[in-house]
Amino acid sequence: MLSGRNYHCGNSTPGPFRRRFGSVNYVEETGSTNADLAAVADTAGDGTVLVTGHQTAGRGRLDRRWEAPPNANLLMSVLLRPTGGSDRLSLVTSTLAVAVVDVLVDLIGGQVPSARIKWPNDILLFDGDQLGKVAGILAELVDGDPPAVVVGLGLNVEWPGPDDEGPPDATSLVAAGFETEPGSLADPVLASFGRWLGVLEAPGGVEAIRLEHLARSATIGQRVRVESPTGMVEGHALDLAPDGALVVEVDGTRREFRSGDIVHLRSLDRD
Ligand code: ATP
Repeated sequence: MLSGRNYHCGNSTPGPFRRRFGSVNYVEETGSTNADLAAVADTAGDGTVLVTGHQTAGRGRLDRRWEAPPNANLLMSVLLRPTGGSDRLSLVTSTLAVAVVDVLVDLIGGQVPSARIKWPNDILLFDGDQLGKVAGILAELVDGDPPAVVVGLGLNVEWPGPDDEGPPDATSLVAAGFETEPGSLADPVLASFGRWLGVLEAPGGVEAIRLEHLARSATIGQRVRVESPTGMVEGHALDLAPDGALVVEVDGTRREFRSGDIVHLRSLDRD
């Protein structure tokens, strides 16, 4: 069982998309919210949510660390058992990325900066030029029958601020000029995620999420360097495959990458 208290961030009645998640479990501090949900995956229901004020061992991809000081940022994980087919599992990262971009665009309104997805799991803020990484997503498959996906979000709200030394290329909403509190963003993120999960799980959902990710992508159209388990290559990021893989043209050949680090080199339209 999860320990910790339930909290509800907003005052209003949850909308239809927010309802999938029920109440939010909150703990002041833990190692990793993803690890906590994975540990209870055999008994926890679809839509279980855990938020913490502080992670002492926040996880990124490939055993990297996700950092944040106490009570500054939104640190949240969700356990899901997506319906509609196992081809949906690999698209949970894209679905949450689309959802988070929509929340940021709502918050920012018509102003700069804009928010876009850096493949596969980062959200960047742009102000003409790139301001930095404002959020990271980590989805982990938990074996079982049916399998579960635990997906975590670190959204930089107050840290790193303009005078803080944060991770390389990191930014936050406050650094970009948007004063808000981490707790106030949990409900909007869940409502948006619930909406896009409904799209993912519906007939045609794989293609629908692919198109929504493409529409919010910072990577497609860029000249990129891909550092993958098979080596390092440079090419033009052309497309997303149905399973979320990045399609890159390398020396005239289309190649698909399912994992790896991407460096944006320059935009094709500046060539
Ligand atoms: P990138 O593509 O930016 O190199 P990644 O996708 O390979 O990152 P992630 O798993 O998203 O890696 O995140 C881990 C990395 O993100 C860390 O190695 C660190 O450099 C950076 N990082 C850690 N905490 C934060 C944060 N709060 N905000 C932005 N970046 C962070």
